[in-house]
Amino acid sequence: MHEHPIYTQTRTKQLLATYGLRAKKSLGQHFMIDGNVLRAMVAAVPPEAVVIEIGPGLGALTEQLAQRVHAVVAVEIDVHMVRVLQDVLAPYAHVHIVHADVLRIQWQQLYTEMIAPYGAERPVYVVANLPYYVTTPIVLALLRDAVFVRTAIVMMQEEVCARMTASPCTKAYGSLSIAIAYYAHAHMMRTIPATAFYPPPHVQSAVMRLDRRDIPPVMVHDEQVLFALVRAAFAHRRKTLSNNIASLLPDRDAKAVCAEWLRAAGIDGQRRGETLDIAQFAALANHAPAVLRTDGAMI
Ligand code: SAM
Repeated sequence: MHEHPIYTQTRTKQLLATYGLRAKKSLGQHFMIDGNVLRAMVAAVPPEAVVIEIGPGLGALTEQLAQRVHAVVAVEIDVHMVRVLQDVLAPYAHVHIVHADVLRIQWQQLYTEMIAPYGAERPVYVVANLPYYVTTPIVLALLRDAVFVRTAIVMMQEEVCARMTASPCTKAYGSLSIAIAYYAHAHMMRTIPATAFYPPPHVQSAVMRLDRRDIPPVMVHDEQVLFALVRAAFAHRRKTLSNNIASLLPDRDAKAVCAEWLRAAGIDGQRRGETLDIAQFAALANHAPAVLRTDGAMI
């Protein structure tokens, strides 16, 4: 085994040079070079867990995970990184590298083929320094589709983390905050300066912890209606709730139908969407008129 951990700046640069590579901005490649940050992320995972890592890159985080947890399944899109990983992580038989775009992963298949064999009772975690250009779709797909994932410990842009964990009546609160709150308890663990990465990104980062809820915080007849409604409510932040959600109704009679809808749900249509909490959105969703238009998107 190599005597220096992968995460040092020297070894990171050395690995890139040895394999003739450069960090690709287009794939959000910013490698972690701060051992304390890595150790804090890894310490949040119980040793008996099976971990899915998204975007292992050169293996800085993967190596630390390999030394602590039961098994690691690491999904990397860049074939050049995959070649490095196959070499540097060769000593760890319980680390599996999957060459794939995480946004195209069949989660159930991944579970059956690579995780279930380690035992159905094992907690499954996601641990990742996410590629920032696709943070939101990755987190939403995990919450909606990878139902076997109990907890995620993920590095992302601080500003995105703030939106995901925001409360009503704050500037960061929006449809993303509500989508996340529907599926998980989420909080920011710590902020991370750009100097923790090579090359440093232009933004501050943060580590977020998401714990999947056993049951949603609100009961709705139709999740698609809830998400369509939330999206419409935040579409124009300066418009009233009533004006925003009327866009979901066919033009004819929209005003009258909307007024009756709000009355039945007990919500004042003159409020702004950002003042409503998830329970109030659920009340609106459960009183939605049958003519409501939805398109199946989450945010
Ligand atoms: N985990 C490494 C570290 O912390 O040093 C690298 C993290 S880097 C911020 C993000 C990684 O995600 C890169 O290795 C990049 O190639 C990979 N990546 C980008 N888009 C991806 C996708 N759609 N699916 C899987 N991996 C992706």
